[in-house]
Amino acid sequence: MGALSLPRKVSVLGSTGSIGVSTLDLFEQAGLEVEVAALAAGRNAERLAEQARRWRPRLAVIRDEAQLPELRDRLAGTGIETAAGAAAVAEAADAGADWVMSAIVGFAGLEPTLAAARAGATVALANKESLICAGPALLSAAREAGGSVIPVDSEHSAIFQVLDPANARHVSRLILTASGGPFRAWSREQMALATPEQALAHPNWSMGAKISVDSATMMNKGLEVIEAAYLFAMPAERVDVLIHPQSIVHSLVEYQDGSTLAQLGPPDMRAPIACAYAWPDRLPWPAQRLDLARAGQLTFEDPDLERFPALRIAKEALAAGGRAPAVMNAADEVAVAAFLDRKIGFLDIARVVSETLDRMAGADLGPASNDALEEARATDAAARRVADGVVLGLMARA
Ligand code: NDP
Repeated sequence: MGALSLPRKVSVLGSTGSIGVSTLDLFEQAGLEVEVAALAAGRNAERLAEQARRWRPRLAVIRDEAQLPELRDRLAGTGIETAAGAAAVAEAADAGADWVMSAIVGFAGLEPTLAAARAGATVALANKESLICAGPALLSAAREAGGSVIPVDSEHSAIFQVLDPANARHVSRLILTASGGPFRAWSREQMALATPEQALAHPNWSMGAKISVDSATMMNKGLEVIEAAYLFAMPAERVDVLIHPQSIVHSLVEYQDGSTLAQLGPPDMRAPIACAYAWPDRLPWPAQRLDLARAGQLTFEDPDLERFPALRIAKEALAAGGRAPAVMNAADEVAVAAFLDRKIGFLDIARVVSETLDRMAGADLGPASNDALEEARATDAAARRVADGVVLGLMARA
């Protein structure tokens, strides 16, 4: 390990979630006694306190202020500083770490992710929503501060690993693979009756609720297309999606001479996290090895945009540019929450997103601002109001 140049001090934002837990587990599995500057979570004070007792961060922050007394009680006598609220979560992102895992779910991740980028940290980016809502600003903030953004999404990690920046001008296409989610083989009629439990049962990956539902609608792949376009400066028409149910080929880069490079591995998020942690080194840890003979067949098919309109909607939002991706993201967050609350049906998720984009297309959101966060917030709030109205309309008709 001595020869590796690894981050010295880390923070994990969203530490109690699927990616956060995988990140800390990776450190454990790799035998890394990292120095932790901050851990931040939403409302799970019990798990956050357990993690803090194990990893001894200087700071443990919880978004939900009502959970602060519990967090304090559980960490009494440890000397670990505690805080609560959105501003404290953003401060946790700038607590002196040189590597920050950005794994808060949704738009709420934008402010802390921007704070980490502005602090010049290496941002391991799982929170794709921050790129969707303020991609160019986030990437330029990292560049200007001398930091970097390394993708954690397995598809973008794959592209990051096989796309040599020196050869970027020779790339003809990025091809994101998608498992197809739990409803890959379902008809629209079957999907109309899908329950939250069925949507949450992803065949290959164990993930948080929001991304699991996004995988079922394929909005997740739509978000990833936008993420790839921003991260790798690729126009929308050169980012394609390929269904690959086994989730072993994580993505591909096609070069103009006809050569295509891919990255492969078992579906385990600790692998792309390890890559983002050690890059450009490679972290030794007891990762499951890929056994292609045992994996047997790898299959591929084109996505069906009729059954999964969310993917088409996302591509259109990317092509429309401006605030459309941020509007789409907000509407999707509203729609997924409404579906999980059983207020709308599964197929209504894409309807809410599409209708919100239509209603917002001509909306006057004021002049573009120099403050990317403020602009994203205004767009997000306006889109949520419209999306809430669309949800209410659907509920009234049901
Ligand atoms: P989870 O729902 O499992 O975890 C979300 C985390 O964010 C939890 O720690 C939660 O805290 C915290 N959180 C929620 N809201 C807030 C808030 N307002 N302020 C601070 N913290 C908050 O999600 P995942 O781990 O699955 O996903 C996290 C991100 O990573 C998403 O953007 C997702 O798209 C992306 N991603 C996830 C993958 C996966 O395999 N899971 C793969 C690729 C990308 P608490 O639990 O305490 O409420």
